[in-house]
Amino acid sequence: MPSSHPDPILQRDPLDGFHEECGVFGVFGSDEASVLTALGLHALQHRGQEAAGIVTFDGHSFHAHRALGHVGENFGADSPQMQQLRGHVAIGHNRYSTSGNVDPLMEIQPFSSELAFGGFALAHNGNLTNAGRLRASLIETGSLFQSSSDTEVIVHLVARSHQDSVTDRLVDALKQIEGAYSLVCVADDMLIGVRDPHGVRPLVLGQRENTWLLASESCALDIVGATPVRELDPGEMVVIDQHGVHSTKPFQPVSSRFCVFEYVYFSRPDSVVEGRGVYHARKAIGAELARESHIEADMIIPVPDSGVPAALGYAEASATPFDLGIIRNHYVGRTFIQPTQKGRTDSVKLKHNANPAAVRGKRIVLVDDSIVRGTTSRKIVTMMRNAGAAEVHMRIASPPTTHPCFYGVDTPSQDQLIAAQMSVEQISKEIGVDSLAFITVDGMYRAIADINRDPDKPQFCDACFTGDYPIQLASGLSAKRVSHGSGSR
Ligand code: AMP
Repeated sequence: MPSSHPDPILQRDPLDGFHEECGVFGVFGSDEASVLTALGLHALQHRGQEAAGIVTFDGHSFHAHRALGHVGENFGADSPQMQQLRGHVAIGHNRYSTSGNVDPLMEIQPFSSELAFGGFALAHNGNLTNAGRLRASLIETGSLFQSSSDTEVIVHLVARSHQDSVTDRLVDALKQIEGAYSLVCVADDMLIGVRDPHGVRPLVLGQRENTWLLASESCALDIVGATPVRELDPGEMVVIDQHGVHSTKPFQPVSSRFCVFEYVYFSRPDSVVEGRGVYHARKAIGAELARESHIEADMIIPVPDSGVPAALGYAEASATPFDLGIIRNHYVGRTFIQPTQKGRTDSVKLKHNANPAAVRGKRIVLVDDSIVRGTTSRKIVTMMRNAGAAEVHMRIASPPTTHPCFYGVDTPSQDQLIAAQMSVEQISKEIGVDSLAFITVDGMYRAIADINRDPDKPQFCDACFTGDYPIQLASGLSAKRVSHGSGSR
């Protein structure tokens, strides 16, 4: 794409990932819809920390508030913003994203517009792989885009659809879309939830008395005292109105490919996704890792917080003591948020410190959930040596991350993924450990009890570990991964 293109989504590098990690939440049938949504978004803060937004509908009008920063800073229960978010229907969105080239406030979801049939608001978790192409043709034929987000394409397709009802218009729009999406929408006094046909991102339906809720993860239902009813099936659309919940499956069925990285890192450990508790999945992966790559050691040390459940599982399975050799400062964001490599290095220092009392003179095994660029590992290994560890081994509770994600997890391009550039032995030298092992892909699936995995009928998307992308990529995206080879595994 020419870098001088006036449209920001068309001029950004399509090979550099799309930087969308998000959480969505929706409520139908409560006078406190906005308060419940703010609480739900707060529980989903780990899915996106850059910005948050809530749109409500009161039967006549839509109300919206969107702001940069955390949910707690912008949606306090008694704040004037919350007072004006009236209505019994609400949707909300947490955004984790680098801004486009336009006003950052215009990038914050939910997007809402006045269309021919009335108001329509939409929030999206996932990433669309053919948005650039659709956007270009929509612009050519007169659509005026407000943001650089791929999600806005859906709004324009809904606006242009010739179908009669809003739900038919939405289905019509989504049939033109490729990629990963879990959506919550408000239109025509209805709350609508949809999962893409592969079901890459999660979406769960919950209930609290007469109120229905939709959330990216079950932890967001817990916080409002709602009961999880069920997870939406891949390709399912639910329409919630005053008569209850109506479900349809409007898309051609395809194999289900839930994102396995939700278990590895992304979801909160207290959530249940796709019928499995994330905490137990992580512990089981840690235990399998210990079976696959056991090493004699005095202490298992988790890299907090994401490595803790796997380290517990590893310690239990290897009958080795577990201790907190690294203390985390919780008042800084995730290291990944920093846009530059320099920024990342600094934030690792800000986030983790060694606890010499737990590691001095010990042969330790560090357990983390993943290595992406290698920045965290390098820093932490040095910390452990400086704190007097006798040996430092590292075990990683996911396979090597060799491929970027195009479906909604913020992984960098392949040239920045250390496992795409180096062998395990080279990484081991690079980060300065005495030994390094990653869990195998099969080990990971054994751990999450997917023992009947049929390679011809995969149940998960594991493209970040295998390069097996379940949804067609635009030609530039697939060319990228071919040109870099398959990495180190
Ligand atoms: P790195 O320092 O680049 O190797 O990143 C590894 C660390 O980032 C691990 O400790 C993970 O917990 C965390 N991590 C892995 N994937 C992501 C992601 N998509 N977003 C934010 N953090 C991540």
